Amino acid sequence: MKQQCFLHKNFCKNQSPRIFMYFCAMQTNDIQKAAHIIAGGGLVAFPTETVYGLGANALNPEAVAKIFAAKERPSFDPLIVHIDSFDWFAKLTTNVPAEISPFLEQFMPGPLTVVLPKSDIVPDIVTSGLNTVGIRMPANDIARKLIQLSGCPIAAPSANKFGQLSPSTAAHVRKQLPNIDYILDGGSTSVGIESTIITFNNNECTLLRPGIITPEEIEKHLPLGYTLTTKKSKSIIAPGLLQSHYSPKKPLFIFDTLPSSFPPKSGLILHAEQAIPAIERSIFTSLNGNLLEVAAHLFSALHTMEDTPNIERIYIQSVAPQGLGIAIMDRMKKAAFQYQTENSQYI
Ligand code: AMP
Ligand code: MG
Repeated sequence: MKQQCFLHKNFCKNQSPRIFMYFCAMQTNDIQKAAHIIAGGGLVAFPTETVYGLGANALNPEAVAKIFAAKERPSFDPLIVHIDSFDWFAKLTTNVPAEISPFLEQFMPGPLTVVLPKSDIVPDIVTSGLNTVGIRMPANDIARKLIQLSGCPIAAPSANKFGQLSPSTAAHVRKQLPNIDYILDGGSTSVGIESTIITFNNNECTLLRPGIITPEEIEKHLPLGYTLTTKKSKSIIAPGLLQSHYSPKKPLFIFDTLPSSFPPKSGLILHAEQAIPAIERSIFTSLNGNLLEVAAHLFSALHTMEDTPNIERIYIQSVAPQGLGIAIMDRMKKAAFQYQTENSQYI
């Protein structure tokens, strides 16, 4: 029986100053090389604080087309455009209500994507023909530096094959996309799940995809007179809301109460330390149910189970669907959806 615990690793903080400086110098060269590839119309996978992105120059339709090809992503699924400064809003969007600026400044840079009316310089391929564009300013230093050195906004969906598990390490990217031009390795991502996506319509803010920025936090900072809704607008295609997504290649089952036994060749993912029945492999995303840790380690735990040869099925504990738990359960249910016949409780 193999047990494993993912705890927060911070490569830089744990290194001696000399190794840390070497790491930074190495990163700068790597980022310059990656920026050169982006500027030349190539594809680069890079870390953000949420998950790894697969980036291309957002203003170059041929470069963006390579993202769809590499991911085998349907053309109806729009991409998020990553920026490094607020100046890009004026260039990439139109008719943005002035009163939402303080709201955006509250959460950006950070794991929030805002969908706004697009300007003419945003190619249709980026937005799948929609007249809106999703914009995010990542907080991750490597991502910011890459955008800055590339000199262009970077269109980047998660760096995985469409429908498969999202990547939270460079190794996860290499597993699914071994043939892209370059992978910028920035260690494990800290948030671990994709950004919260919102859009504005008149005085309404709509949550399109839950993330680490919770509905409560959004509501607290909305401009006066604005309300938050999670109702899905029919006019907005948001494939991030597809029922099946982010799936491991092995059957995944969600449980509330720990079963007393498991079939042979099962893997178990838990979010708090507890006594467990005999099982092939177990992973704790957190030792005490800390939802930030659960989110940070969720995809890594699923990747590890997917990659373990003698595991044939995966069991994962649910979390309470409140606060950050909403986003965690959203990813879990989508990951398990295609195995729903045996997983009817959550469908
Ligand atoms: P990914 O970057 O792989 O997490 O996917 C980005 C997701 O952002 C898409 O699947 C959509 O759900 C959402 N998105 C991006 N742009 C728009 C847009 N203009 N309107 C609505 N949703 C969008
Ligand atoms: Mg994705």
